[in-house]
Amino acid sequence: MPYTLQIGSVRCHIVSDGRQKSDGGGFFGLVPRVLWERVVQPDDSNRIPTDLRCLLIESEKGLILVDTGQGDKLVDKTRAYLGMTDANERLIGDLRQVGVAPEDVDIVLLTHLHGDHVGGATRWRDQADPKSGVIPTFPNARYLAQRQELADASFPNERTRGTYFPENWEPLMASGQFEIVTGDQYLSPSVRTEVIPGHTASIQAVWVEDGGESLLFLGDTCNWAVHLERLAWVPAFDLDPMASIEGKRRLREEAMRRNALLVFQHDGQVVAGRLVEGERGPVVKAEIVEERRDA
Ligand SMILES: [Zn+2]
Repeated sequence: MPYTLQIGSVRCHIVSDGRQKSDGGGFFGLVPRVLWERVVQPDDSNRIPTDLRCLLIESEKGLILVDTGQGDKLVDKTRAYLGMTDANERLIGDLRQVGVAPEDVDIVLLTHLHGDHVGGATRWRDQADPKSGVIPTFPNARYLAQRQELADASFPNERTRGTYFPENWEPLMASGQFEIVTGDQYLSPSVRTEVIPGHTASIQAVWVEDGGESLLFLGDTCNWAVHLERLAWVPAFDLDPMASIEGKRRLREEAMRRNALLVFQHDGQVVAGRLVEGERGPVVKAEIVEERRDA
Protein backbone atom coordinates (compact mmCIF):
# COMPACT_ATOMS: atom_id res chain seq x y z
CA MET A 1 0.00 0.00 0.00
CA PRO A 2 1.51 3.35 -0.99
CA TYR A 3 1.99 6.15 1.54
CA THR A 4 1.95 9.67 0.09
CA LEU A 5 3.94 12.42 1.78
CA GLN A 6 4.61 16.08 1.13
CA ILE A 7 8.14 17.42 1.66
CA GLY A 8 7.82 21.16 1.09
CA SER A 9 6.41 21.39 -2.41
CA VAL A 10 7.68 17.92 -3.41
CA ARG A 11 5.26 15.02 -3.28
CA CYS A 12 6.75 11.59 -2.47
CA HIS A 13 5.20 8.14 -2.35
CA ILE A 14 6.56 5.24 -0.32
CA VAL A 15 5.74 2.24 -2.49
CA SER A 16 6.63 -1.40 -1.97
CA ASP A 17 7.61 -4.49 -3.89
CA GLY A 18 6.00 -6.55 -1.14
CA ARG A 19 7.12 -8.58 1.82
CA GLN A 20 9.57 -11.41 2.24
CA LYS A 21 11.08 -13.35 5.09
CA SER A 22 14.75 -13.28 5.94
CA ASP A 23 16.85 -14.94 8.59
CA GLY A 24 16.90 -12.71 11.66
CA GLY A 25 20.64 -13.28 12.01
CA GLY A 26 21.18 -11.60 8.66
CA PHE A 27 19.66 -8.34 9.84
CA PHE A 28 21.01 -8.41 13.38
CA GLY A 29 24.49 -9.86 12.92
CA LEU A 30 26.35 -10.22 16.19
CA VAL A 31 23.37 -9.14 18.30
CA PRO A 32 22.13 -12.14 20.34
CA ARG A 33 18.65 -13.30 19.42
CA VAL A 34 17.45 -12.81 23.02
CA LEU A 35 17.97 -9.07 22.44
CA TRP A 36 16.65 -8.61 18.90
CA GLU A 37 13.58 -10.81 19.39
CA ARG A 38 12.30 -8.09 21.73
CA VAL A 39 12.12 -5.90 18.62
CA VAL A 40 10.69 -8.47 16.21
CA GLN A 41 9.55 -12.05 16.80
CA PRO A 42 11.04 -14.62 14.41
CA ASP A 43 9.04 -17.57 13.05
CA ASP A 44 9.91 -21.24 13.66
CA SER A 45 12.69 -21.03 11.07
CA ASN A 46 14.21 -17.92 12.70
CA ARG A 47 12.90 -15.75 9.86
CA ILE A 48 11.53 -12.24 10.30
CA PRO A 49 9.21 -10.30 7.99
CA THR A 50 10.91 -7.60 5.97
CA ASP A 51 9.58 -5.13 3.46
CA LEU A 52 10.93 -4.17 0.03
CA ARG A 53 10.14 -0.46 0.03
CA CYS A 54 11.00 1.95 -2.75
CA LEU A 55 10.47 5.70 -3.01
CA LEU A 56 8.78 7.57 -5.84
CA ILE A 57 9.59 11.30 -5.94
CA GLU A 58 7.64 13.79 -8.05
CA SER A 59 10.70 15.99 -8.59
CA GLU A 60 11.26 19.15 -10.62
CA LYS A 61 13.14 16.97 -13.10
CA GLY A 62 10.42 14.36 -13.48
CA LEU A 63 9.49 11.14 -11.70
CA ILE A 64 12.37 9.56 -9.79
CA LEU A 65 12.00 5.99 -8.53
CA VAL A 66 14.52 4.92 -5.89
CA ASP A 67 15.16 1.15 -6.12
CA THR A 68 12.96 -1.53 -7.66
CA GLY A 69 12.66 -4.42 -5.18
CA GLN A 70 13.04 -8.09 -6.13
CA GLY A 71 10.91 -7.84 -9.26
CA ASP A 72 9.26 -10.80 -10.94
CA LYS A 73 12.19 -12.83 -12.32
CA LEU A 74 12.73 -15.03 -9.28
CA VAL A 75 12.02 -18.72 -9.83
CA ASP A 76 9.30 -20.35 -7.69
CA LYS A 77 11.84 -22.15 -5.50
CA THR A 78 13.50 -18.87 -4.51
CA ARG A 79 10.16 -17.17 -3.94
CA ALA A 80 9.10 -20.03 -1.67
CA TYR A 81 12.36 -19.83 0.26
CA LEU A 82 11.84 -16.09 0.74
CA GLY A 83 8.25 -16.66 1.81
CA MET A 84 6.99 -14.36 -0.95
CA THR A 85 3.30 -15.07 -1.17
CA ASP A 86 2.29 -11.88 -2.99
CA ALA A 87 1.46 -12.01 -6.68
CA ASN A 88 3.59 -10.57 -9.46
CA GLU A 89 3.84 -6.84 -10.16
CA ARG A 90 3.79 -5.75 -6.52
CA LEU A 91 5.79 -2.57 -7.15
CA ILE A 92 4.06 -1.93 -10.48
CA GLY A 93 0.72 -2.34 -8.67
CA ASP A 94 1.68 0.19 -6.01
CA LEU A 95 2.84 2.64 -8.69
CA ARG A 96 -0.45 2.15 -10.50
CA GLN A 97 -2.29 3.04 -7.30
CA VAL A 98 -0.64 6.47 -7.33
CA GLY A 99 -1.38 6.91 -11.03
CA VAL A 100 2.05 6.04 -12.42
CA ALA A 101 2.72 3.60 -15.26
CA PRO A 102 6.19 2.13 -15.95
CA GLU A 103 6.51 4.37 -19.04
CA ASP A 104 6.08 7.49 -16.87
CA VAL A 105 9.22 7.00 -14.76
CA ASP A 106 12.07 9.32 -15.83
CA ILE A 107 14.90 8.27 -13.53
CA VAL A 108 15.49 5.04 -11.63
CA LEU A 109 18.08 5.59 -8.94
CA LEU A 110 19.68 2.35 -7.78
CA THR A 111 21.04 2.70 -4.24
CA HIS A 112 23.19 -0.36 -4.96
CA LEU A 113 22.96 -3.47 -7.13
CA HIS A 114 21.92 -6.19 -4.66
CA GLY A 115 19.14 -8.41 -5.99
CA ASP A 116 16.46 -7.12 -3.62
CA HIS A 117 16.99 -3.56 -4.89
CA VAL A 118 17.60 -3.98 -8.59
CA GLY A 119 15.66 -7.17 -9.41
CA GLY A 120 12.66 -5.13 -10.54
CA ALA A 121 14.76 -2.98 -12.87
CA THR A 122 14.26 -5.58 -15.58
CA ARG A 123 11.60 -8.16 -16.35
CA TRP A 124 10.89 -11.06 -18.65
CA ARG A 125 9.48 -9.90 -21.98
CA ASP A 126 6.64 -12.37 -21.49
CA GLN A 127 5.81 -12.45 -17.79
CA ALA A 128 5.04 -16.18 -17.91
CA ASP A 129 8.08 -17.23 -19.91
CA PRO A 130 11.60 -16.97 -18.44
CA LYS A 131 13.03 -17.80 -21.87
CA SER A 132 11.36 -14.83 -23.55
CA GLY A 133 14.31 -12.53 -22.86
CA VAL A 134 14.93 -9.81 -20.27
CA ILE A 135 14.00 -6.18 -20.95
CA PRO A 136 13.97 -2.94 -18.92
CA THR A 137 10.85 -2.59 -16.75
CA PHE A 138 10.81 1.20 -17.15
CA PRO A 139 11.22 1.76 -20.90
CA ASN A 140 11.77 5.54 -20.82
CA ALA A 141 13.91 5.85 -17.70
CA ARG A 142 17.57 6.58 -17.22
CA TYR A 143 18.90 4.16 -14.62
CA LEU A 144 21.67 5.55 -12.40
CA ALA A 145 24.20 3.48 -10.45
CA GLN A 146 27.56 4.17 -8.85
CA ARG A 147 30.72 3.27 -10.77
CA GLN A 148 32.25 1.45 -7.79
CA GLU A 149 29.06 -0.54 -7.25
CA LEU A 150 28.99 -1.70 -10.86
CA ALA A 151 32.62 -2.78 -10.58
CA ASP A 152 31.91 -4.74 -7.40
CA ALA A 153 28.77 -6.27 -8.91
CA SER A 154 30.52 -7.22 -12.14
CA PHE A 155 33.37 -8.97 -10.37
CA PRO A 156 31.76 -10.48 -7.27
CA ASN A 157 33.64 -12.56 -4.72
CA GLU A 158 32.60 -15.61 -2.72
CA ARG A 159 30.80 -13.41 -0.20
CA THR A 160 28.88 -11.22 -2.67
CA ARG A 161 28.15 -13.62 -5.52
CA GLY A 162 24.75 -14.70 -4.17
CA THR A 163 23.15 -11.26 -4.62
CA TYR A 164 24.67 -9.83 -7.82
CA PHE A 165 22.87 -11.03 -10.97
CA PRO A 166 23.89 -9.47 -14.31
CA GLU A 167 20.41 -9.95 -15.83
CA ASN A 168 19.33 -7.13 -13.50
CA TRP A 169 21.52 -4.51 -15.23
CA GLU A 170 23.02 -5.85 -18.48
CA PRO A 171 19.74 -5.38 -20.44
CA LEU A 172 19.82 -1.72 -19.30
CA MET A 173 23.28 -1.35 -20.81
CA ALA A 174 22.12 -2.99 -24.02
CA SER A 175 19.20 -0.54 -24.29
CA GLY A 176 21.43 2.46 -23.58
CA GLN A 177 19.50 3.35 -20.42
CA PHE A 178 22.22 2.61 -17.86
CA GLU A 179 24.27 5.58 -16.60
CA ILE A 180 27.28 5.38 -14.35
CA VAL A 181 27.84 8.13 -11.80
CA THR A 182 30.67 8.73 -9.35
CA GLY A 183 30.03 10.13 -5.88
CA ASP A 184 27.22 12.31 -4.53
CA GLN A 185 24.78 13.76 -7.07
CA TYR A 186 21.99 16.32 -7.31
CA LEU A 187 19.21 14.68 -9.36
CA SER A 188 17.08 17.81 -9.13
CA PRO A 189 17.26 20.94 -6.95
CA SER A 190 15.47 19.06 -4.13
CA VAL A 191 16.82 15.52 -4.54
CA ARG A 192 20.39 14.51 -3.78
CA THR A 193 22.27 11.31 -3.13
CA GLU A 194 24.96 10.68 -0.56
CA VAL A 195 27.40 7.78 -0.70
CA ILE A 196 27.63 6.11 2.73
CA PRO A 197 30.06 3.16 2.53
CA GLY A 198 29.49 0.16 4.80
CA HIS A 199 26.78 -2.18 3.50
CA THR A 200 28.66 -2.01 0.19
CA ALA A 201 31.60 0.23 -0.73
CA SER A 202 29.44 2.79 -2.53
CA ILE A 203 25.86 2.39 -1.35
CA GLN A 204 23.92 5.66 -1.45
CA ALA A 205 21.20 7.20 0.68
CA VAL A 206 18.75 9.75 -0.79
CA TRP A 207 17.72 13.14 0.61
CA VAL A 208 14.62 15.07 -0.44
CA GLU A 209 14.79 18.66 0.82
CA ASP A 210 12.40 21.50 0.14
CA GLY A 211 10.82 24.41 1.99
CA GLY A 212 12.78 23.66 5.17
CA GLU A 213 11.58 20.04 5.29
CA SER A 214 13.67 16.91 4.75
CA LEU A 215 13.17 13.24 4.01
CA LEU A 216 15.97 10.70 4.24
CA PHE A 217 15.57 7.38 2.42
CA LEU A 218 18.13 5.28 4.23
CA GLY A 219 18.21 2.25 1.96
CA ASP A 220 20.53 -0.41 3.31
CA THR A 221 22.70 2.14 5.14
CA CYS A 222 20.29 1.46 8.01
CA ASN A 223 17.77 -1.34 7.56
CA TRP A 224 15.61 -1.14 10.68
CA ALA A 225 14.77 1.80 12.92
CA VAL A 226 16.47 0.10 15.86
CA HIS A 227 19.74 0.06 13.87
CA LEU A 228 19.77 3.85 14.03
CA GLU A 229 19.08 3.89 17.75
CA ARG A 230 21.79 1.33 18.51
CA LEU A 231 24.74 2.08 16.28
CA ALA A 232 26.51 -1.18 17.19
CA TRP A 233 23.59 -3.20 15.76
CA VAL A 234 24.88 -3.87 12.26
CA PRO A 235 23.47 -6.45 9.82
CA ALA A 236 25.63 -9.46 8.98
CA PHE A 237 25.09 -8.45 5.34
CA ASP A 238 27.26 -5.33 5.71
CA LEU A 239 30.70 -5.73 4.18
CA ASP A 240 32.42 -3.13 6.38
CA PRO A 241 30.65 -2.96 9.77
CA MET A 242 32.83 -0.20 11.23
CA ALA A 243 32.18 2.00 8.21
CA SER A 244 28.44 1.28 8.63
CA ILE A 245 28.58 2.47 12.23
CA GLU A 246 30.37 5.71 11.31
CA GLY A 247 27.97 6.29 8.41
CA LYS A 248 24.96 5.85 10.68
CA ARG A 249 26.47 8.18 13.28
CA ARG A 250 26.86 10.89 10.66
CA LEU A 251 23.42 10.38 9.10
CA ARG A 252 21.82 10.32 12.54
CA GLU A 253 23.36 13.66 13.48
CA GLU A 254 22.30 15.28 10.23
CA ALA A 255 18.80 13.78 10.37
CA MET A 256 18.41 15.03 13.94
CA ARG A 257 19.59 18.52 12.99
CA ARG A 258 17.16 18.69 10.07
CA ASN A 259 14.30 16.89 11.86
CA ALA A 260 14.22 14.67 8.76
CA LEU A 261 11.49 12.11 8.13
CA LEU A 262 13.37 8.80 7.96
CA VAL A 263 12.15 6.10 5.59
CA PHE A 264 13.28 2.57 6.43
CA GLN A 265 13.50 0.28 3.43
CA HIS A 266 13.40 -3.14 5.12
CA ASP A 267 11.94 -2.54 8.59
CA GLY A 268 9.01 -4.96 8.91
CA GLN A 269 7.25 -2.66 11.37
CA VAL A 270 8.34 0.97 11.13
CA VAL A 271 7.85 2.50 7.68
CA ALA A 272 8.90 6.04 8.60
CA GLY A 273 9.64 8.12 11.66
CA ARG A 274 11.66 10.94 13.15
CA LEU A 275 14.46 11.01 15.69
CA VAL A 276 13.75 12.43 19.12
CA GLU A 277 16.04 12.66 22.14
CA GLY A 278 15.47 9.69 24.45
CA GLU A 279 16.83 8.90 27.90
CA ARG A 280 19.80 7.02 26.48
CA GLY A 281 20.32 8.86 23.21
CA PRO A 282 18.25 9.37 20.06
CA VAL A 283 15.23 7.14 19.47
CA VAL A 284 12.99 6.82 16.42
CA LYS A 285 9.43 7.98 16.96
CA ALA A 286 7.37 6.08 14.38
CA GLU A 287 5.05 8.16 12.20
CA ILE A 288 3.99 5.43 9.79
CA VAL A 289 3.69 1.83 10.97
CA GLU A 290 3.41 -1.11 8.57
CA GLU A 291 -0.14 -2.38 8.33
CA ARG A 292 0.65 -5.70 6.67
CA ARG A 293 1.69 -7.69 9.73
CA ASP A 294 0.72 -11.09 8.33
CA ALA A 295 3.52 -12.12 5.99
ZN1 LIG B 1 18.44 -4.75 0.80
